Amino acid sequence: MTDGELRDSLLAAARGLSRARLNVGTAGNASVRCPEGFLITPTGMAADLCRADDLVAMNLAGDAQGARAPSSEWRFHRDVYLARPEAGAILHAHAPFATALACQGRDIPPFHYMIARFGGSTLRCAPYATFGTQALSDHALAALEGRCACLLANHGMLVFGRDPIHALDLAIEFEVLCEQYWRTAQLGPPQLLGAAEMAEVLEKFRHYGQPQPGKAP
Ligand code: 13P
Ligand code: ZN
Repeated sequence: MTDGELRDSLLAAARGLSRARLNVGTAGNASVRCPEGFLITPTGMAADLCRADDLVAMNLAGDAQGARAPSSEWRFHRDVYLARPEAGAILHAHAPFATALACQGRDIPPFHYMIARFGGSTLRCAPYATFGTQALSDHALAALEGRCACLLANHGMLVFGRDPIHALDLAIEFEVLCEQYWRTAQLGPPQLLGAAEMAEVLEKFRHYGQPQPGKAP
C-alpha cells in the first residue's frame, strides 16, 4: 500500500469507531504499521476533523514526524508493533460496554465461544495505569499475550488486526461481546464454557474464514 492508501485506511477505521459509537469526541486513537514504523492519529483531535496530513509518522524508537503531536498513547502502539509482528493496525476505544466491564477490573470469562476469536479462552483486563504512560503499555502488552484484544481497567479496550478495517471489525465484535456479557450478567451468573470446549473452538478458529493471500491454509 502507498503512504496515501495507508493514511486513508487509518482514517476510515478511526472514523468507523466514531460511527459505531465506540468512540466519541477525542477519546481513543488508531494506528497502522508502515515501512518506517507506524502512522498514528494526532492527540486531542476527533477522527472526523482529522485529515490525512494530520496523521503523525513515528519510528519504532518513538520519534515523531509531522505538524501534529502524536496520540498520548503512542507507547502502547509502538510496543505492540515491536512485540507482535502479526499486528498491522491497532485501535483503542472507550467503547461503552467494554469500558463498563473494564471498570470492574476483571477478565471476561468464556461465556460465549466467540471469546476464542481473540486468541484465548478469556479476554484479559490489564490493571489500571494512567493514560499515556509506559506502565499502561507494559500492562496492556502482558494482557495481550496470546490475544489480539484486551480491556484496560477503568479506561477502555485495545484491539489489533492485520489492517485497519480488520481491526475495526474486531473492535466492533469485541464491543458486541461485551454487551452480550453485560446483558446475560443481568440475569445471573452465566453458564461458562469449559476448557475442553474452548480448546476445540480455538483450534477451529485457526482455520476460520477466507484464506488470506500469502498465508498457508
Ligand atoms: P489521545 O487524544 O492523546 O489519542 O488520547 C485519547 C485517549 O483515549 C487516551 O487514552
Ligand atoms: Zn483512552
